[in-house]
Amino acid sequence: EAKQGGRNTYRFFNQQMNINNQKYMKVSADLRRAITNQEFVLHYQPQYHILTKKIVGLEALIRWQDPYIGMRSPAEFISIAEENGLIVPIGSWVISEACKDAKKWLDSGLDFGRVAVNCSAAQFRLHDIEQDIIFALTHSGLPARYLELELTESILLQKVDDVLGTLIRLKNYGIHLSIDDFGTGYSSLAYLQQFRVDKLKIDQSFIRGITEQLDHLAIVQAIIQLAHGMNLSAIAEGVESEAVLEILKDLGCDEIQGYLFSRPLPAGKVIEFLQRPPVMIY
Ligand code: C2E
Ligand code: MG
Ligand code: MG
Ligand code: MG
Repeated sequence: EAKQGGRNTYRFFNQQMNINNQKYMKVSADLRRAITNQEFVLHYQPQYHILTKKIVGLEALIRWQDPYIGMRSPAEFISIAEENGLIVPIGSWVISEACKDAKKWLDSGLDFGRVAVNCSAAQFRLHDIEQDIIFALTHSGLPARYLELELTESILLQKVDDVLGTLIRLKNYGIHLSIDDFGTGYSSLAYLQQFRVDKLKIDQSFIRGITEQLDHLAIVQAIIQLAHGMNLSAIAEGVESEAVLEILKDLGCDEIQGYLFSRPLPAGKVIEFLQRPPVMIY
């Protein structure tokens, strides 16, 4: 079958590559314009502690207000920005904007826990992310202990010594570290010992099926036990229902994030939200 379809498959593959390449070029050009014209904004999604019922963090999630196309989601452009390197200027902007916003929340006397910023491997590989962070903290006046970095497992897999050194210094400033989408990457458990992270963020693909799929339940339970065994906390992403929260509570999961507690909020709505957070009854 492979032999028979060989030529057609090849042509199809070529066409597909062309389409992908055109899309890549178009999004890349749009991204350059977006950086120049400052078309990005941040939304923030609250993170909630199940036992204390307190807000423990706000995750910064980038949004792109394209004047021609409308709102464009990170799923569409982050991987392209990682490929063409534009994630470096975009990521710098995210860090400094998030620190400025968090300083405002701090100054308004509201308890928000930390501001969590997503980081891409390219920010470590192509660039000195530590410089961006120090610059952002200094310029905003935000103390380092209010900042958390969400790392992907791919960050921990590249040039281990360089990344390890950077992360140790960042930790020493008081910055918190978490591993995003935990369970979907390839990080060996040895990395967890080596990199002193504070929190595991359990990927939403495991959380969503937890009420029906026993294997998902087993994975989530194992991640929570692993986190606690290593003195880390565990947060569940994508919590949409009370049934899921109930299970997570029983499993001893520390924190939740998801539409059940709050959708991501525009930056301008955060203070109002912190003043009157929703009351969860359980
Ligand atoms: P992530 O860091 O794992 O963020 C969680 C994603 O899940 C967000 O999607 C959020 O809006 C969505 N979400 C939260 N709660 C729920 C829920 O209850 N149900 C469902 N179905 N979804 C929920 P978003 O904002 O589209 O971001 C997608 C991904 O893009 C993020 O995944 C992150 O990997 C990346 N990203 C976003 N902002 C940045 C950024 O500033 N820098 C980098 N490098 N990546 C970013
Ligand atoms: Mg994240
Ligand atoms: Mg995640
Ligand atoms: Mg995710």
